[in-house]
Amino acid sequence: RMIPSYTVFGNPVAHSKSPQIHQYFARQEGVQIEYTRTLVDNTRADFDNAARTFLQQGGAGANITLPFKHFAYDFADTHSERAQAAGAVNTFVPQKDGRILGDNTDGEGLVRDLREHLGIELRGKRILLLGAGGAARGVVLPLLAHRPANLTIANRTYSKAVELAGIFRIEAAPLTQLQSCYDIIINATSSSLHHAAPDVSPDIFAGCFLAYDMFYADTATAFMQFAAQHGAQQTADGLGMLVGQAAAAYEQWRGFAPDIAPVIRHLRAQAAE
Ligand code: NDP
Repeated sequence: RMIPSYTVFGNPVAHSKSPQIHQYFARQEGVQIEYTRTLVDNTRADFDNAARTFLQQGGAGANITLPFKHFAYDFADTHSERAQAAGAVNTFVPQKDGRILGDNTDGEGLVRDLREHLGIELRGKRILLLGAGGAARGVVLPLLAHRPANLTIANRTYSKAVELAGIFRIEAAPLTQLQSCYDIIINATSSSLHHAAPDVSPDIFAGCFLAYDMFYADTATAFMQFAAQHGAQQTADGLGMLVGQAAAAYEQWRGFAPDIAPVIRHLRAQAAE
């Protein structure tokens, strides 16, 4: 029997943890899979070519990472509701009729990390989402599905927060004028990439029980440090979200739901070595 073949398209992609994560999942399922990295030039033509070739040669599924999630959206023949809401695709799921379903599992990945790994229920919680880029947009619908008390979006460029909040009919607030307390604060800005925390009042972390940074690194991010210093009870980075989105993709492809917690522990232990 042929070994099913998967890949992740990206640029850069050499350091992607996806192959390793999916091999952990395959071990859980007790099957053999192939999962490669595909480096693609940053043009639509190159992406389309690479995707078409991989899928025509029998690829069983693919992930798409930066900067191709919009090209992937346009490439897909049909879209899941959550991919439509996100306006971006991170997973190709080949259908029996040969068409390619574009899905987006990033938001589901965050929700899985929160619920299955960190043990946090979202129902009735006051949630603040910082940032209004692609990552923020992708998590709104999956968060709302779990019925928080409210979800507020704040962004440095306020107009972008207003625009995003308008799409989902939720609240927007200017980043520097936040005052209320929130139960869960999620950083979907790329500030931690520049070793900085977004410019928010330290007061918003008083009584906050989870400050979550989508960015991940081997040590606590600038946002996590800032939040902990100002009263957040618990902090987490986005490694679990990465594993969660991979698990949701794997489930779409194979109908097997991986257990994410042991995989997150493995990756964390490896980073500490
Ligand atoms: P975008 O470039 O689409 O958006 C960037 C966002 O960050 C904008 O809202 C921007 O605000 C804001 N921002 C950037 N720098 C600062 C700063 N210094 N202070 C305040 N706000 C700032 O990026 P993405 O949405 O694609 O990614 C955001 C983060 O999420 C990245 O760190 C990425 O690594 C992470 N991510 C993690 C995933 C995971 O699986 N763990 C999955 C996807 C993303 P403005 O509009 O004002 O420019």
